[in-house]
Amino acid sequence: MVKGIILSLFFSVFAFAKYTQEAYYVYGKQNLRYFAPYKELTIDHVTASGFEVYGPKGLGQFITRANIRAAVLDTKASITRAKYPTPEETAQRIQMAVSKFPQIAQMMSIGKSVKGRDLWVIKISKNVRVNDNRPEFKYIANMHGDEIMGRELMVLLIEDLLSNYGKDAYLTKLVDTTQIYILPSMNPDGAALIQRGNANWVDLNRDFPDFSEKGNDKNTLDGRAVETQAIMKWQASRKFQLSANYHGGAEVVSLPFDTVPDKFPLADLVNGLGVEYATNAPYIGASKVFKNGITNGYAWYEVNGGMQDWSWNWYKDLQITVELSNQKYPDPSTIPYYYQQNRKALIAYIARVHTINQSRMVR
Ligand SMILES: [Zn+2]
Repeated sequence: MVKGIILSLFFSVFAFAKYTQEAYYVYGKQNLRYFAPYKELTIDHVTASGFEVYGPKGLGQFITRANIRAAVLDTKASITRAKYPTPEETAQRIQMAVSKFPQIAQMMSIGKSVKGRDLWVIKISKNVRVNDNRPEFKYIANMHGDEIMGRELMVLLIEDLLSNYGKDAYLTKLVDTTQIYILPSMNPDGAALIQRGNANWVDLNRDFPDFSEKGNDKNTLDGRAVETQAIMKWQASRKFQLSANYHGGAEVVSLPFDTVPDKFPLADLVNGLGVEYATNAPYIGASKVFKNGITNGYAWYEVNGGMQDWSWNWYKDLQITVELSNQKYPDPSTIPYYYQQNRKALIAYIARVHTINQSRMVR
């Protein structure tokens, strides 16, 4: 097809990384076929009416030439930049909370972003400096810089867990028995720039090793973004058993696999976890778009190089993806609403690390 030929001229220089310099909303799901063959492009948030497509410079030219109906996705146009805290303000706020609870909270950097910002991880656990055999759990948010609500919910969750320790019996037991790790922002540069990719425009959730892709199916650091590498080294150094990562642009819990149509080995378990999360976060469970507020990732749209499948494939760390808000950058006044709606789900999901072992495969 003529359309395909033009596109390949623009993108043939890119290997595995997905670049996000240009962003479009393409009308009509049927137009997916023009973009799907190109590994260099990111497709996101597919609905019947259309989808987002991100790519390197030249994407817009292709869309224009091919006469595909689309609109520029200018995420910054509708955003009042000053409203959300900067990465530095966020780190300070977390530091303040952590410093009040040195026995149960620790803040550590697992690496730096392109622009030299620390990737801060907060560990919350009784005797926090001791690494022992208690189950390890993690949350990662804000890997897409313009999907900001996850970061805010992580900050509130950290403060909630710490300030209620010794007061709320359930939370206290959870902190006593679990090694909880929280990375509020995997992409602080993207957050500061209000853009999806990192400072080099790399889409971090398309940057992990992809077990289905020949030539990219080794769990190696070479050629990946520094933020991706930091996560990979961190994961290799720990024994995470359960995790979730937070996004925006839809309201749904998306379950593995993303990469292939194959049935997930623990499909019943992850579906149960997904339904439970969505039920505990009422606005997600009440979705009119997704039955029970969940979807299989691949059935929604294929993702290659995503973190979710990578963490399972190489580490048997069971991970789900939560899309928190239809708007990627909702007004900050809605933060308390989203926290209140997600609080039960956030806490119950951590506790699940204690009960999944009976039903999961042995490492
Ligand atoms: Zn995202």
